[in-house]
Amino acid sequence: MIDQTSMTLKNELHDLIEWLSMFGKTKNGGVTRLLYDAAWQKAQYGLKQKMEDMDLETRFDDAGNLFGRVSGRGEDKKVILTGSHVDTVVDGGKYDGAYGVLASTMAASRLFHLYGPPKQTIEAVSLCEEEGSRFPLSFWGSGTITGKYKMESAAGLLDRSGISLAEAMQSAGFGKGNYPQPVRQDIACFLETHIEQGRTLELEQKTWAPVSAIVGQRRYTISLTGESNHAGTTPMNRRHDAVFAASLMIAHAIQEASHQSNGLVATAGRVEADPNVPNVISGKCRFSLDVRHHELKVMDHFCEQALAFFKETADNLGIRIHVSKWMDAAPVKLDPRLTQMNLKIADHAGIPFRKMISGAGHDSQIFGTYCPTALMFVPSHLGISHSPSEYTRLADLEVGVRMLMKVLYQLAY
Ligand SMILES: [Zn+2]
Repeated sequence: MIDQTSMTLKNELHDLIEWLSMFGKTKNGGVTRLLYDAAWQKAQYGLKQKMEDMDLETRFDDAGNLFGRVSGRGEDKKVILTGSHVDTVVDGGKYDGAYGVLASTMAASRLFHLYGPPKQTIEAVSLCEEEGSRFPLSFWGSGTITGKYKMESAAGLLDRSGISLAEAMQSAGFGKGNYPQPVRQDIACFLETHIEQGRTLELEQKTWAPVSAIVGQRRYTISLTGESNHAGTTPMNRRHDAVFAASLMIAHAIQEASHQSNGLVATAGRVEADPNVPNVISGKCRFSLDVRHHELKVMDHFCEQALAFFKETADNLGIRIHVSKWMDAAPVKLDPRLTQMNLKIADHAGIPFRKMISGAGHDSQIFGTYCPTALMFVPSHLGISHSPSEYTRLADLEVGVRMLMKVLYQLAY
Protein backbone atom coordinates (compact mmCIF):
# COMPACT_ATOMS: atom_id res chain seq x y z
CA MET A 1 0.00 0.00 0.00
CA ILE A 2 1.28 3.48 -0.82
CA ASP A 3 1.33 6.07 1.93
CA GLN A 4 -0.57 8.89 0.23
CA THR A 5 0.58 11.68 2.58
CA SER A 6 4.20 10.66 2.06
CA MET A 7 3.70 10.66 -1.72
CA THR A 8 2.19 14.12 -1.70
CA LEU A 9 4.84 15.58 0.59
CA LYS A 10 7.59 14.04 -1.52
CA ASN A 11 6.03 15.18 -4.78
CA GLU A 12 5.46 18.68 -3.51
CA LEU A 13 9.01 18.92 -2.17
CA HIS A 14 10.49 17.59 -5.41
CA ASP A 15 8.48 20.05 -7.50
CA LEU A 16 9.40 23.01 -5.28
CA ILE A 17 13.13 22.23 -5.36
CA GLU A 18 13.09 21.87 -9.15
CA TRP A 19 11.02 25.05 -9.47
CA LEU A 20 13.36 27.16 -7.33
CA SER A 21 16.45 25.78 -9.10
CA MET A 22 15.16 27.19 -12.42
CA PHE A 23 15.95 30.73 -11.21
CA GLY A 24 19.61 31.10 -12.14
CA LYS A 25 19.99 27.68 -13.78
CA THR A 26 23.45 27.31 -15.39
CA LYS A 27 24.43 25.34 -18.49
CA ASN A 28 26.12 22.75 -16.23
CA GLY A 29 22.84 22.11 -14.44
CA GLY A 30 23.91 24.18 -11.43
CA VAL A 31 22.46 27.40 -10.02
CA THR A 32 23.97 30.90 -9.89
CA ARG A 33 21.81 33.23 -7.82
CA LEU A 34 23.77 36.14 -6.44
CA LEU A 35 22.47 38.74 -4.01
CA TYR A 36 19.99 41.12 -5.72
CA ASP A 37 20.74 39.92 -9.29
CA ALA A 38 17.96 39.13 -11.80
CA ALA A 39 17.76 35.42 -10.87
CA TRP A 40 17.72 36.31 -7.17
CA GLN A 41 14.85 38.76 -7.73
CA LYS A 42 12.81 36.21 -9.67
CA ALA A 43 13.41 33.61 -6.96
CA GLN A 44 12.60 35.87 -4.02
CA TYR A 45 9.47 37.44 -5.59
CA GLY A 46 8.46 33.95 -6.85
CA LEU A 47 8.81 32.56 -3.33
CA LYS A 48 6.60 35.35 -2.00
CA GLN A 49 3.82 34.25 -4.33
CA LYS A 50 4.44 30.60 -3.49
CA MET A 51 4.21 31.31 0.25
CA GLU A 52 0.91 33.13 -0.30
CA ASP A 53 -0.42 30.19 -2.35
CA MET A 54 0.45 28.04 0.68
CA ASP A 55 -1.58 30.36 2.97
CA LEU A 56 1.30 32.13 4.69
CA GLU A 57 1.11 35.90 5.33
CA THR A 58 4.13 37.38 3.57
CA ARG A 59 6.29 40.44 3.93
CA PHE A 60 9.74 41.64 2.96
CA ASP A 61 12.09 43.68 5.09
CA ASP A 62 14.17 46.49 3.64
CA ALA A 63 17.21 44.24 3.08
CA GLY A 64 15.16 41.82 0.97
CA ASN A 65 14.67 39.06 3.53
CA LEU A 66 11.29 37.39 2.89
CA PHE A 67 9.01 36.12 5.67
CA GLY A 68 5.99 33.80 5.48
CA ARG A 69 3.99 33.91 8.69
CA VAL A 70 1.49 31.72 10.48
CA SER A 71 0.17 33.96 13.24
CA GLY A 72 -0.12 32.53 16.73
CA ARG A 73 -3.22 32.85 18.90
CA GLY A 74 -1.35 32.93 22.23
CA GLU A 75 -0.12 35.70 24.52
CA ASP A 76 3.54 35.26 23.60
CA LYS A 77 4.22 37.68 20.76
CA LYS A 78 7.71 36.35 20.10
CA VAL A 79 8.26 34.56 16.82
CA ILE A 80 9.70 31.13 16.06
CA LEU A 81 11.79 31.83 12.97
CA THR A 82 12.81 29.02 10.63
CA GLY A 83 14.58 29.09 7.29
CA SER A 84 17.83 29.42 5.39
CA HIS A 85 19.32 31.44 2.52
CA VAL A 86 18.12 31.88 -1.07
CA ASP A 87 21.46 32.94 -2.62
CA THR A 88 24.02 30.49 -4.02
CA VAL A 89 27.70 30.40 -4.92
CA VAL A 90 28.60 30.65 -8.63
CA ASP A 91 27.45 27.42 -10.32
CA GLY A 92 26.34 25.96 -6.99
CA GLY A 93 23.83 23.23 -6.25
CA LYS A 94 20.05 23.37 -5.91
CA TYR A 95 19.88 22.24 -2.25
CA ASP A 96 22.32 24.47 -0.34
CA GLY A 97 20.12 27.09 1.35
CA ALA A 98 17.16 26.53 -0.98
CA TYR A 99 16.22 23.28 0.73
CA GLY A 100 16.05 24.98 4.14
CA VAL A 101 13.86 27.78 2.78
CA LEU A 102 11.46 25.31 1.15
CA ALA A 103 11.46 22.85 4.08
CA SER A 104 10.52 25.70 6.44
CA THR A 105 7.83 27.05 4.13
CA MET A 106 6.30 23.59 3.70
CA ALA A 107 6.51 22.76 7.40
CA ALA A 108 4.83 26.01 8.47
CA SER A 109 2.10 25.70 5.85
CA ARG A 110 1.42 22.00 6.50
CA LEU A 111 1.21 22.48 10.26
CA PHE A 112 -1.28 25.30 9.74
CA HIS A 113 -3.43 23.15 7.44
CA LEU A 114 -3.26 20.16 9.79
CA TYR A 115 -3.69 21.86 13.16
CA GLY A 116 -4.84 25.44 12.53
CA PRO A 117 -3.21 28.51 14.09
CA PRO A 118 -0.42 27.66 16.58
CA LYS A 119 -0.08 29.13 20.09
CA GLN A 120 3.12 30.85 19.09
CA THR A 121 3.73 32.55 15.73
CA ILE A 122 5.87 30.67 13.22
CA GLU A 123 7.66 32.52 10.41
CA ALA A 124 9.43 30.82 7.53
CA VAL A 125 12.26 33.00 6.22
CA SER A 126 14.12 33.15 2.93
CA LEU A 127 17.28 34.99 3.97
CA CYS A 128 18.59 37.26 1.24
CA GLU A 129 22.29 36.34 1.44
CA GLU A 130 24.71 34.00 3.18
CA GLU A 131 27.45 32.92 0.76
CA GLY A 132 29.48 36.08 0.16
CA SER A 133 29.52 35.29 -3.58
CA ARG A 134 28.81 38.74 -4.99
CA PHE A 135 30.06 41.30 -2.47
CA PRO A 136 33.00 40.85 -0.09
CA LEU A 137 30.80 40.08 2.92
CA SER A 138 28.72 37.14 3.97
CA PHE A 139 25.64 36.59 6.17
CA TRP A 140 24.01 39.83 4.96
CA GLY A 141 20.53 38.34 5.57
CA SER A 142 20.97 37.01 9.11
CA GLY A 143 23.39 39.86 9.87
CA THR A 144 20.84 42.59 9.15
CA ILE A 145 18.10 40.81 11.16
CA THR A 146 20.28 40.26 14.23
CA GLY A 147 21.89 43.73 14.11
CA LYS A 148 25.38 42.41 13.30
CA TYR A 149 25.18 44.59 10.17
CA LYS A 150 23.59 48.01 9.92
CA MET A 151 21.89 48.73 6.60
CA GLU A 152 24.30 51.54 5.75
CA SER A 153 27.43 49.72 6.93
CA ALA A 154 27.98 47.79 3.70
CA ALA A 155 26.40 50.22 1.23
CA GLY A 156 29.70 51.13 -0.42
CA LEU A 157 31.00 47.60 -0.98
CA LEU A 158 31.54 46.88 -4.68
CA ASP A 159 30.97 43.71 -6.69
CA ARG A 160 33.37 42.69 -9.49
CA SER A 161 31.70 44.95 -12.03
CA GLY A 162 31.90 47.99 -9.74
CA ILE A 163 28.23 48.03 -8.68
CA SER A 164 27.79 49.02 -5.04
CA LEU A 165 25.70 46.99 -2.63
CA ALA A 166 23.40 49.99 -2.15
CA GLU A 167 22.82 50.31 -5.93
CA ALA A 168 22.22 46.58 -6.31
CA MET A 169 19.82 46.57 -3.37
CA GLN A 170 17.84 49.51 -4.74
CA SER A 171 17.62 48.07 -8.23
CA ALA A 172 16.04 44.96 -6.66
CA GLY A 173 13.46 47.16 -4.89
CA PHE A 174 15.01 47.29 -1.40
CA GLY A 175 17.01 49.71 0.73
CA LYS A 176 14.66 52.60 -0.03
CA GLY A 177 12.61 52.49 3.16
CA ASN A 178 9.61 50.92 1.41
CA TYR A 179 9.72 48.01 3.84
CA PRO A 180 10.33 47.73 7.61
CA GLN A 181 13.95 47.86 8.77
CA PRO A 182 15.38 44.32 9.01
CA VAL A 183 16.65 44.40 12.61
CA ARG A 184 14.32 42.54 14.98
CA GLN A 185 13.81 42.13 18.68
CA ASP A 186 10.89 39.70 18.59
CA ILE A 187 12.61 36.42 17.73
CA ALA A 188 12.20 33.62 20.28
CA CYS A 189 14.42 31.13 18.47
CA PHE A 190 15.80 30.21 15.04
CA LEU A 191 15.66 26.76 13.41
CA GLU A 192 17.59 25.92 10.24
CA THR A 193 17.42 22.76 8.15
CA HIS A 194 20.35 22.32 5.77
CA ILE A 195 22.20 19.68 3.76
CA GLU A 196 25.30 18.42 5.55
CA GLN A 197 27.80 19.34 2.79
CA GLY A 198 30.02 16.56 4.12
CA ARG A 199 29.87 12.77 4.02
CA THR A 200 29.47 11.75 7.65
CA LEU A 201 25.74 10.99 7.57
CA GLU A 202 25.87 9.06 4.31
CA LEU A 203 28.84 6.94 5.41
CA GLU A 204 27.14 6.13 8.70
CA GLN A 205 23.77 5.57 7.00
CA LYS A 206 22.05 8.17 9.15
CA THR A 207 19.35 10.43 7.77
CA TRP A 208 19.21 13.31 10.24
CA ALA A 209 21.49 15.17 12.63
CA PRO A 210 20.91 17.88 15.20
CA VAL A 211 24.07 20.01 15.21
CA SER A 212 25.48 20.93 18.62
CA ALA A 213 28.16 23.41 17.52
CA ILE A 214 29.59 25.18 14.49
CA VAL A 215 33.36 25.29 14.29
CA GLY A 216 35.33 28.47 14.67
CA GLN A 217 37.63 29.40 11.80
CA ARG A 218 40.93 31.22 11.73
CA ARG A 219 42.80 32.14 8.57
CA TYR A 220 46.33 33.39 8.28
CA THR A 221 48.67 34.44 5.51
CA ILE A 222 52.30 33.72 6.36
CA SER A 223 54.81 35.72 4.30
CA LEU A 224 58.45 34.61 4.33
CA THR A 225 61.37 36.62 2.97
CA GLY A 226 64.72 34.92 2.48
CA GLU A 227 67.24 35.39 -0.28
CA SER A 228 66.87 34.54 -3.94
CA ASN A 229 70.03 32.96 -5.32
CA HIS A 230 71.66 30.60 -7.86
CA ALA A 231 70.53 26.95 -7.46
CA GLY A 232 73.91 25.62 -8.58
CA THR A 233 76.50 27.86 -6.94
CA THR A 234 74.98 28.52 -3.50
CA PRO A 235 76.10 25.91 -0.95
CA MET A 236 73.38 24.38 1.17
CA ASN A 237 74.66 25.98 4.38
CA ARG A 238 74.54 29.50 2.90
CA ARG A 239 70.93 29.49 1.80
CA HIS A 240 67.93 31.42 3.06
CA ASP A 241 65.39 29.38 1.12
CA ALA A 242 61.85 30.64 1.66
CA VAL A 243 60.20 27.59 0.05
CA PHE A 244 62.20 25.25 2.28
CA ALA A 245 61.09 27.21 5.36
CA ALA A 246 57.47 27.18 4.22
CA SER A 247 57.58 23.44 3.59
CA LEU A 248 58.86 22.76 7.13
CA MET A 249 56.16 24.99 8.60
CA ILE A 250 53.34 23.48 6.54
CA ALA A 251 54.48 19.93 7.27
CA HIS A 252 54.64 20.71 10.97
CA ALA A 253 51.16 22.27 11.10
CA ILE A 254 49.50 19.50 9.10
CA GLN A 255 51.25 16.73 11.03
CA GLU A 256 50.36 18.30 14.38
CA ALA A 257 46.73 18.57 13.28
CA SER A 258 46.75 14.93 12.11
CA HIS A 259 48.08 13.78 15.49
CA GLN A 260 45.28 15.45 17.41
CA SER A 261 42.28 13.20 17.72
CA ASN A 262 39.90 15.98 18.69
CA GLY A 263 38.57 16.87 15.23
CA LEU A 264 40.80 19.91 14.67
CA VAL A 265 41.54 20.48 10.98
CA ALA A 266 44.33 22.57 9.45
CA THR A 267 44.83 23.33 5.76
CA ALA A 268 47.51 25.16 3.80
CA GLY A 269 45.50 25.56 0.61
CA ARG A 270 47.54 28.24 -1.13
CA VAL A 271 51.28 28.43 -1.63
CA GLU A 272 52.98 31.08 -3.75
CA ALA A 273 56.71 31.06 -4.41
CA ASP A 274 58.78 33.90 -5.84
CA PRO A 275 60.38 33.92 -8.37
CA ASN A 276 58.87 30.41 -8.85
CA VAL A 277 61.60 29.26 -11.22
CA PRO A 278 63.16 25.74 -11.20
CA ASN A 279 66.82 26.81 -11.02
CA VAL A 280 66.51 29.70 -8.54
CA ILE A 281 66.30 29.47 -4.73
CA SER A 282 63.08 31.17 -3.70
CA GLY A 283 63.56 34.51 -2.00
CA LYS A 284 59.92 34.78 -1.05
CA CYS A 285 57.12 32.41 -0.20
CA ARG A 286 53.60 33.02 1.01
CA PHE A 287 51.17 30.42 2.26
CA SER A 288 47.75 30.32 3.84
CA LEU A 289 46.77 28.46 6.96
CA ASP A 290 43.12 27.67 7.75
CA VAL A 291 42.40 26.20 11.20
CA ARG A 292 38.98 25.04 12.46
CA HIS A 293 37.64 23.56 15.66
CA HIS A 294 34.51 23.88 17.77
CA GLU A 295 36.37 24.85 20.97
CA LEU A 296 38.18 28.14 21.29
CA LYS A 297 40.71 26.69 23.76
CA VAL A 298 41.77 23.96 21.36
CA MET A 299 42.07 26.40 18.45
CA ASP A 300 44.05 28.90 20.57
CA HIS A 301 46.46 26.25 21.75
CA PHE A 302 47.05 24.84 18.26
CA CYS A 303 47.57 28.26 16.64
CA GLU A 304 49.93 29.52 19.38
CA GLN A 305 52.03 26.39 19.14
CA ALA A 306 52.13 26.42 15.31
CA LEU A 307 53.04 30.12 15.13
CA ALA A 308 55.80 29.66 17.71
CA PHE A 309 57.25 26.87 15.58
CA PHE A 310 57.02 29.08 12.46
CA LYS A 311 58.97 31.90 14.19
CA GLU A 312 61.62 29.54 15.51
CA THR A 313 62.05 27.91 12.09
CA ALA A 314 62.30 31.29 10.37
CA ASP A 315 64.94 32.45 12.89
CA ASN A 316 66.99 29.27 12.44
CA LEU A 317 67.04 29.72 8.66
CA GLY A 318 67.70 33.47 8.70
CA ILE A 319 64.32 34.25 7.18
CA ARG A 320 61.99 37.13 7.96
CA ILE A 321 58.43 36.16 8.77
CA HIS A 322 55.23 38.17 8.75
CA VAL A 323 51.97 36.65 9.98
CA SER A 324 48.66 38.24 9.11
CA LYS A 325 45.46 36.88 10.68
CA TRP A 326 42.64 38.02 8.40
CA MET A 327 39.79 35.89 9.62
CA ASP A 328 38.85 34.96 13.17
CA ALA A 329 35.35 33.58 13.68
CA ALA A 330 34.67 32.14 17.12
CA PRO A 331 33.03 28.71 17.41
CA VAL A 332 29.31 28.89 18.13
CA LYS A 333 27.46 26.53 20.44
CA LEU A 334 23.91 25.91 19.36
CA ASP A 335 21.21 25.88 22.04
CA PRO A 336 21.75 22.76 24.21
CA ARG A 337 18.09 22.66 25.24
CA LEU A 338 16.90 22.65 21.60
CA THR A 339 19.58 20.11 20.61
CA GLN A 340 18.49 17.84 23.46
CA MET A 341 14.85 18.23 22.50
CA ASN A 342 15.67 17.40 18.86
CA LEU A 343 17.63 14.29 19.85
CA LYS A 344 14.62 13.10 21.84
CA ILE A 345 12.23 13.78 18.96
CA ALA A 346 14.49 11.83 16.57
CA ASP A 347 14.74 8.94 19.00
CA HIS A 348 10.98 8.85 19.33
CA ALA A 349 10.50 9.05 15.54
CA GLY A 350 12.68 5.95 15.12
CA ILE A 351 14.85 7.44 12.36
CA PRO A 352 18.61 6.79 12.10
CA PHE A 353 20.24 9.94 13.53
CA ARG A 354 23.35 11.22 15.26
CA LYS A 355 24.55 14.43 16.89
CA MET A 356 27.07 16.41 14.83
CA ILE A 357 29.44 19.35 14.75
CA SER A 358 29.32 21.48 11.62
CA GLY A 359 32.63 22.17 9.88
CA ALA A 360 30.95 24.67 7.53
CA GLY A 361 29.52 28.07 8.38
CA HIS A 362 25.75 28.69 8.29
CA ASP A 363 23.22 31.42 9.09
CA SER A 364 22.73 29.53 12.37
CA GLN A 365 26.12 30.73 13.55
CA ILE A 366 24.91 34.34 13.33
CA PHE A 367 21.57 33.58 15.01
CA GLY A 368 23.39 31.33 17.53
CA THR A 369 24.93 34.33 19.30
CA TYR A 370 21.62 36.21 19.25
CA CYS A 371 18.85 33.77 20.22
CA PRO A 372 18.44 30.05 21.01
CA THR A 373 19.24 28.34 17.71
CA ALA A 374 18.99 24.81 16.31
CA LEU A 375 20.61 23.54 13.11
CA MET A 376 19.59 20.22 11.57
CA PHE A 377 21.33 18.32 8.77
CA VAL A 378 20.18 15.83 6.15
CA PRO A 379 22.79 13.81 4.18
CA SER A 380 24.70 15.07 1.13
CA HIS A 381 25.43 12.36 -1.43
CA LEU A 382 29.23 11.86 -1.56
CA GLY A 383 29.52 14.99 0.58
CA ILE A 384 29.56 17.14 -2.58
CA SER A 385 28.35 20.73 -2.26
CA HIS A 386 28.84 24.13 -3.92
CA SER A 387 28.68 22.20 -7.20
CA PRO A 388 26.05 21.26 -9.80
CA SER A 389 26.57 17.64 -8.61
CA GLU A 390 25.20 18.47 -5.15
CA TYR A 391 22.51 15.87 -4.42
CA THR A 392 20.35 14.62 -1.57
CA ARG A 393 17.89 11.74 -1.99
CA LEU A 394 14.26 12.80 -1.94
CA ALA A 395 13.57 10.30 0.88
CA ASP A 396 16.19 12.06 3.05
CA LEU A 397 14.86 15.51 2.15
CA GLU A 398 11.42 14.29 3.21
CA VAL A 399 12.73 13.16 6.61
CA GLY A 400 14.16 16.67 7.12
CA VAL A 401 10.77 18.30 6.49
CA ARG A 402 8.91 15.84 8.70
CA MET A 403 11.40 16.30 11.53
CA LEU A 404 11.18 20.08 11.24
CA MET A 405 7.39 19.76 11.48
CA LYS A 406 7.74 17.72 14.67
CA VAL A 407 10.16 20.23 16.20
CA LEU A 408 7.96 23.18 15.25
CA TYR A 409 4.88 21.39 16.57
CA GLN A 410 6.53 20.80 19.93
CA LEU A 411 7.61 24.45 20.20
CA ALA A 412 4.61 26.26 18.76
CA TYR A 413 1.51 24.14 19.46
ZN1 LIG B 1 24.12 27.09 2.88
